[in-house]
Amino acid sequence: MTPADRIARTVRADVLAQTAYPVAPAAPDVIKLDAMECPYPLPDRLRQEIAQAVAGTALNRYPGADDPELKAQVAHAFGVPSGAALLFGNGSDELIHLLVQACCAPGDTVLSPWPSFVYFDMAARFDHARFVGVPLTAALELDLPAMLAAIAAHRPKLVFLALPNNPTGGLWPDEAIQAIVDAAPGLVVIDEAYQPFAGHSWMPRLLDHPNVVVMRTVSKIGLAGLRFGYLAGHPDWIAQIDKVRPPYNINVLTQAALRVVLREKALLDAQAARLRADREPLAQALAALPGVTVYPSAGNFVLARFEGKLDGNAVHLALKTRKILVKNLSSAHPLLANCLRISVGAPDENTALLAALKELSSP
Ligand SMILES: *Cc1c(COP(=O)(O)O)cnc(C)c1O
Repeated sequence: MTPADRIARTVRADVLAQTAYPVAPAAPDVIKLDAMECPYPLPDRLRQEIAQAVAGTALNRYPGADDPELKAQVAHAFGVPSGAALLFGNGSDELIHLLVQACCAPGDTVLSPWPSFVYFDMAARFDHARFVGVPLTAALELDLPAMLAAIAAHRPKLVFLALPNNPTGGLWPDEAIQAIVDAAPGLVVIDEAYQPFAGHSWMPRLLDHPNVVVMRTVSKIGLAGLRFGYLAGHPDWIAQIDKVRPPYNINVLTQAALRVVLREKALLDAQAARLRADREPLAQALAALPGVTVYPSAGNFVLARFEGKLDGNAVHLALKTRKILVKNLSSAHPLLANCLRISVGAPDENTALLAALKELSSP
């Protein structure tokens, strides 16, 4: 007897139908450009300091209550305006769940331009909300009239706006965001996962609006393994969302490492600046390949459409056999046909990628 029959009768139908969030297995000798990780490891000196801090933690105890000092350190490091409150998450993925859980009764609507971050849709549905994705234009830009019409029609509790957007890289104009904030009947979550590469933020204007929170993560700036995200907003909003947070959601090892790393925020900034500077040369070199269209990106990645000798699937596979991993979005959404999302890597990784693509596109 196997569990299959009991599973079929017990697990939610939509979960049975769902495929698990794809996480590529780590392999030591691949060039990993599929997940917007920072290619630069922390320097040895800092790793030693983290090791010491971690060694001093009490693993037999639960994490203490909210640490005001750590909150102050995060607020200072990331320019959170005074008067705003913070909520920490085990990655911003967890914060997305908390937002949906705090705001949406079953059947309430979560809305986002689409394609955007897949986890907006997944988290909404897992938490029994209804997800509405408003298609981008054919040029993969925000369709403001469509957004406003959808907001009027669906009256969403939550609107998620990834700025810059993942996977397209676009940074929607301020006036359009303002119009969405003004029209939204509920809360607008500005997801600034890629803000360090954009040089633009809603954080300073956070408290100018009654219905805006800003969500960030350290995953894209060199600390993806730490699992730490934060939500900044008016204290009254944060107090409500905090009610659904699992107690002790930020473990003591993460807290200890974070305290050390944030003292060296300049190092993280320098790495982000390097990736940002390397983005345009990479984008231009990709765009120079026959049949390749590159979309403007303000993130640490570029989205490219391959319609030359090889299509998106073929390029993805050919790169994989050369041990270069990029994200294949060809079948993720009709607007993304033949699109691959490529993280900006270290210089030698970008060079290897371009060499492989040139070889693939040569007649
Ligand atoms: C990567 C990403 C996140 C998730 O960040 P974690 O903190 O690693 O969970 C959130 N939003 C967007 C738009 C992302 O691309």
